[in-house]
Amino acid sequence: MDCHSDRSDNTFWQHLIVDRTTRALLKSQRPRILWFTGLSGAGKTTIANHVDMLLCASGKHTFILDGDNLRHGLNQDLGFTIADRIENIRRTAHVAKLMADAGLIVVVCLISPYRQERRMARDLMEPGEFVEIFVDTPLEICAERDPKGLYKKAYAGEIRNFTGVDEVYECPVSPELHLRTVGTTPIDLATQIVAHLDLA
Ligand code: ADP
Repeated sequence: MDCHSDRSDNTFWQHLIVDRTTRALLKSQRPRILWFTGLSGAGKTTIANHVDMLLCASGKHTFILDGDNLRHGLNQDLGFTIADRIENIRRTAHVAKLMADAGLIVVVCLISPYRQERRMARDLMEPGEFVEIFVDTPLEICAERDPKGLYKKAYAGEIRNFTGVDEVYECPVSPELHLRTVGTTPIDLATQIVAHLDLA
């Protein structure tokens, strides 16, 4: 007998007494997910770190979920096939949601190449709490920057399924923020993001 076959029938949602609202109130902030999407090397992590510093300096409670870092732990069993990328985004979105339920402003840096999965992440949150930030840098510039040396490997055929090279990136259609990084600096962009957020 498969003892897991009726798992969903026997899984309950446990009501928690100290709820999301209380936790957010204690932190004097409204929980958010700031979801940075864009090609590898676009500048997601760099800009997100500046946003995080600015928010912390103004007394906000934040946490960064960086896709690269999550792949060292929670998502270390996942590769870069489409199915694994979808699962990578799903797990990250749910962790971000849990952190938002703890009252935090969660900064997510994830290529997250598919519109449908970004929509799934958005739908976990209340209206206005999910801020999609499209870090828009042309592929040629990302490949020139190549901060991790990955484009070089991808163009040499040493790694496969690399977003922008031999895997698709679906640009956001109507992100809350569309940042073009060429000709500006990470700190200027981070300042723009924080100004856009109504975090009072
Ligand atoms: P991602 O997280 O999107 O993969 P990273 O933030 O790791 O990208 O790398 C982006 C690289 O581009 C960094 O080396 C950064 O210094 C550089 N860079 C140059 N100009 C900008 C800019 N305006 N915004 C963000 N990063 C920039």
